[in-house]
Amino acid sequence: MAKQKSAQEQYKEKLALQEHSSSQLKEWFPEINKLTILITFKDLTDLESPEQETHLFLPERKAFFLFHCPYRECVNGGFDLTQDVKNAVAAINKTTLGKIECLGWQDEQRIGAHRCKLTASYKIAAE
Ligand SMILES: [Zn+2]
Repeated sequence: MAKQKSAQEQYKEKLALQEHSSSQLKEWFPEINKLTILITFKDLTDLESPEQETHLFLPERKAFFLFHCPYRECVNGGFDLTQDVKNAVAAINKTTLGKIECLGWQDEQRIGAHRCKLTASYKIAAE
């Protein structure tokens, strides 16, 4: 019998399926050649913030903008930047800056009790 999957594994699989069924960037934004998303994390304690991430989207890549929370224990977390990407493409300077908090649960034992609350600051630039 297969091992029972954790809530976190199930969630990641769900996201992978969503990404798989998404359209390509060029279908969403035919005029965009490149999209760069820079994410900087800030932990509540600010002692061990995860490393910053850069995500590069070329026209062939799937237009899927829900990024995993870098905390391995976090359940149902992540950062949905879909609307922000749309805003960046629509903006005159093709850039959006913002901040978003992870709404996942800190770990499997604390589902329903304790939010992750990792903060991500992002810069989205379309070219
Ligand atoms: Zn999280």
